Amino acid sequence: MPEKTIPQPLYHKYLEGGGEMGERIRTFDWSATTLGTPDTWPQSLLLTVSTMLRSRFPMFLFWGRHHIQFYNDAYRPSLGASGKHPSALGRSGKESWQEIWSAVEPQIERSLHGESTYSENELVPMFRDGKIDEVYWTYSYSPVITEDGTSGGALVICHETTTNVKALKTIDETATQLQFAIEAAELGTWELDPKTNRFVANKRVADWFGLPHTPEIALSSAIEAIVPEDRERVSNAIVDTMKAGSDGNYDISYTVNSLQSGERRVVRAKGKVIFDQGGEATRFSGTLQDITDDVEIEKRKDEFISVASHELKTPITSLNASLQILQKLVKTEPVSDKFKTFTAKAGNNLNKLVHLLDDLLNVTKIQQGQLALSKNRFNLSELVRDSCDHISQGSDHEISINGTDELFVYADYRRIDQVLVNFVGNAIKYSPQSKKIDITLEQVGSDARVIVKDYGIGINPEKLPHLFDRYYRVDALGHQFSGLGLGLYISSDIIKRHDGNIGVESQWGEGSQFWFTLPID
Ligand code: ADP
Repeated sequence: MPEKTIPQPLYHKYLEGGGEMGERIRTFDWSATTLGTPDTWPQSLLLTVSTMLRSRFPMFLFWGRHHIQFYNDAYRPSLGASGKHPSALGRSGKESWQEIWSAVEPQIERSLHGESTYSENELVPMFRDGKIDEVYWTYSYSPVITEDGTSGGALVICHETTTNVKALKTIDETATQLQFAIEAAELGTWELDPKTNRFVANKRVADWFGLPHTPEIALSSAIEAIVPEDRERVSNAIVDTMKAGSDGNYDISYTVNSLQSGERRVVRAKGKVIFDQGGEATRFSGTLQDITDDVEIEKRKDEFISVASHELKTPITSLNASLQILQKLVKTEPVSDKFKTFTAKAGNNLNKLVHLLDDLLNVTKIQQGQLALSKNRFNLSELVRDSCDHISQGSDHEISINGTDELFVYADYRRIDQVLVNFVGNAIKYSPQSKKIDITLEQVGSDARVIVKDYGIGINPEKLPHLFDRYYRVDALGHQFSGLGLGLYISSDIIKRHDGNIGVESQWGEGSQFWFTLPID
């Protein structure tokens, strides 16, 4: 093959630049290889090496029958901190790539016969950093045509994709694990497209709703499977959660009747909406859980509490009546001091028992929709003062009342008093170290607001969203403070039924501030 020698110093131009590998190629003793010194190299080789050195994309070249090797700085990191670099430069491919030579050689040979290859995310195990590493590549071997029209070498343009492949594998594994968890928890999964109002659900959801196992289902068909009394509530919740400005959280329980089998189930749907930068909902997905058994158990618990509290009511009422007679007798009859002390203690404890029983009876009434309200117009400020005078007599806490003197509302005096007594009672109970309670009365827009602030143990903000739930107690198992976790639930129901609002702000260790509002009359 007649090869044209590039006159000095022109060949230097081809080998200029190229960072570390440029420097190594320029200073390498090529006379010891079958290629000879660069001034004797064919222009095709010089041009290819020059392209490699100037490229920021990883490239590797096998040249001639001995597959003498070149590579650039972009390729260099793939050889690891220790291993083939820099010994691979100027060496024959067979010597450098013993561990995978059987896979590499055929590809070089194909290029030497003028063919190209392309492989994507292919595993090419290689020795680097003292061990055989699992390395993935996307690469192409292509022939380098020389001056006589034949192929003089194989140029490998490549990109190491190990990180991507491993990341994809991790995603696959995570998806499989998630699938196992969904199966184990017997959860339904769904995803609603906010633009088209069509949704994709897993087989379990489709079965529960009695819908076909098609890839996409119209939201309207799913809504049809919801019992009529829950439909509007669910539709509104979906619309509200997707509205700009919503926190995107969806959590709702409702009953479905399978459109196929008619089977009835109570389900709890939980989901999250993702919004784009313009506040537009782009994705809405979540899970569905069958809570039929839990609801049934809850119902039986409520029934038991209802029966038990009604059964307790008669003996406690007659006990109370007897004790009241005893308390009167103690004042008029000559009895020992011990007798007086124990009668007073019995009276106190019976009072507590009556309050606990009242809470249980109130809950039953709320659930059966029988908590009747008897409304009148009255000055809320007066109620607060009267109520606090009363509470102060039996407590060593100092209650100060500030704010507006006239705030007329149309409400059930006894029930609002019950809410206030609960707030102040809690403020006293949960402030064992501090004796100060501040009550503020104010007008906010068209509402009257009452704030009860204490300086007691406070509440962890994480717990605040559950505080008005039935039976919820922050320290459920702690016996430091007695209670049933019903007072705030009852208060919340009373206030909502007056079209008011109820809330709390608190920090653990820094006291709490409970408030409620009522429309001004
Ligand atoms: P309870 O009978 O347990 O006091 P409530 O419904 O009145 O029931 O209150 C629910 C829970 O809220 C309480 O168990 C307590 O953990 C917390 N809580 C209520 N008021 C206060 C307060 N002022 N300070 C700290 N925690 C409070």
